[in-house]
Amino acid sequence: IRHLVLVLGDQLNHDSDVFSDFDPDTDRVWMAENDEEATHVWCHKTRLVGFFSPMRHFRDELRESGKTVLYHELTGDRRKALESSFASVLRKTLDEHDVEKLLVVSPGDYRVREQLRATSEQEGVPIEFRNDHHFYCTPEEFDDWAAGRKSMVMETFYRKMRQRHGILLDDKKEPEGGQWNFDKENRETFGKSGPPEIPPVPSFDPDSITRDVIDMVQDRFEDHPGSVEQFDLPVCRKDALKYLKDFIKNRLPKFGTFQDAMWNDETFLYHSRLSHAINLHLLSPKEVVDAAEQAYREGEAPLNCVEGFIRQVLGWREYVRGIYWNRMPHYEERNSLHCDPDQDVPPFFWDGNTDMACVADAMRLLIDTAYAHHIQRLMVLGLFAQLYGTHPLRFHHWHMAMYADAIDWVSLPNALGMSQYGDGGVMATKPYCATGKYIQRMSNHCKGCRYDPAKATGEDACPFTTLYWDFLDRHQQQFQNNSRMTLQLKNLDRKDSSEWSDIRSRAKKIRSGKLTLKQQ
Ligand code: FAD
Ligand code: SF4
Repeated sequence: IRHLVLVLGDQLNHDSDVFSDFDPDTDRVWMAENDEEATHVWCHKTRLVGFFSPMRHFRDELRESGKTVLYHELTGDRRKALESSFASVLRKTLDEHDVEKLLVVSPGDYRVREQLRATSEQEGVPIEFRNDHHFYCTPEEFDDWAAGRKSMVMETFYRKMRQRHGILLDDKKEPEGGQWNFDKENRETFGKSGPPEIPPVPSFDPDSITRDVIDMVQDRFEDHPGSVEQFDLPVCRKDALKYLKDFIKNRLPKFGTFQDAMWNDETFLYHSRLSHAINLHLLSPKEVVDAAEQAYREGEAPLNCVEGFIRQVLGWREYVRGIYWNRMPHYEERNSLHCDPDQDVPPFFWDGNTDMACVADAMRLLIDTAYAHHIQRLMVLGLFAQLYGTHPLRFHHWHMAMYADAIDWVSLPNALGMSQYGDGGVMATKPYCATGKYIQRMSNHCKGCRYDPAKATGEDACPFTTLYWDFLDRHQQQFQNNSRMTLQLKNLDRKDSSEWSDIRSRAKKIRSGKLTLKQQ
């Protein structure tokens, strides 16, 4: 074999650089489902099907196009677990075949890249990493932008990307509509009446490949969290394109306006649910951004919504990837709030069994679909984990386990950095900390909850509110020179000593698990 072309589970695009010089006579594609990827974090069943089914579809498409694929398929029989670590499967292939060179697109996970390097060295087979042109910005371009900057502000990076790629600009190369940012218009709530009609997201009945994978996952990984009964993610490019078209037509026109709002039992609201397909490379970010811009140009979606959406994909997504490669491998060791390394997420982050209505709602959706939208991730589950004192790397591992779209490069900066402030201010200039009143303002969760978001003490005190004050109290010194925290810290003086004693004691009980916050 001249080139053994490795295709990882999140590299499912036919126009990838590794196929540019593919010779069907001398080259082979290699793909492997493996236990290690499924178990190094305790993966949600939907996340597993969401990787393995698209891989099998992609394998079949490659074969149809005349390529020979060596594919390692997992079976429901768990006794075969030991022989299926990623590196061991690759080593076995290299022992069985005479391979001149390994070719692979640069992986999205630092650990996997190092494993590949090590295997190549051990086996004496050279490896070539090719650029992942699935992104607008290469890690090298990001490093150039970041070099010498005191702080890496996303907004500055985003404007640069808009200019460099000519996106949402007018004839004079100025931002469309005269401003770069429509954030002020994009913080609407649903008020008392609730969301306007939300068109349902497309649903795909599992085909025979997906059904086989579901059966395998249910047998082999039966004790893993989450349910797979409602599995309806796109598993091939054809489905992903349908999904994109549907979003642009039906939900983009309200996406920006309500992007921060939440509502009981509403999983997707006006969000795109495209992250899984984009991250697996079934869709390219460029075609997603172009489709959104075209909708604006054709008068089908307002500018604030289109800009809000493009900011997420062209801005945040690219920025997060840049941070990951700029800061790895030490980024994952960051723990700027000095959290106890043993402090894990609370038990109800696995089963949703809690009487906090907002958390229970987000968890119900997460267990059923391996999805929660951004504000649930950041301002409900992420916020609770942070106030609870969860170690940031443990939060990232939990995140990797529970979300269908989680891949190391994107989960780590978002989970450890943005959400938990583990990186001490690289991703966010201050911690995202708030009381339950934020959740009350942005949703209808508190209405049906047994807790009161305004209260920090007492039986019915909202755990977010109690923990918020405790959090500020514990980190007061650390943030006293952060001007963005001044107002929040000032309010600490308003509480008297008896209230502080109640707050601290209730917070301690919550954080130690003595107060279980479980449904009665
Ligand atoms: P939409 O709300 O419709 O947004 C459109 C697209 O923008 C998304 O599909 C995604 O591709 C991109 N996007 C938006 N925000 C971000 C961001 N902060 N970082 C990267 N891309 C972004 N996203 C992941 O894809 N994988 C993760 O593992 C992940 N972990 C996260 C962890 C935490 C704690 C937080 C707060 C956010 C995380 N995000 C992650 C970012 C974001 O929440 C998800 O991309 C988004 O919720 C996915 O749903 P959607 O496709 O409906 O997104
Ligand atoms: Fe969540 Fe507190 Fe509101 Fe209950 S009262 S829904 S716990 S924010």
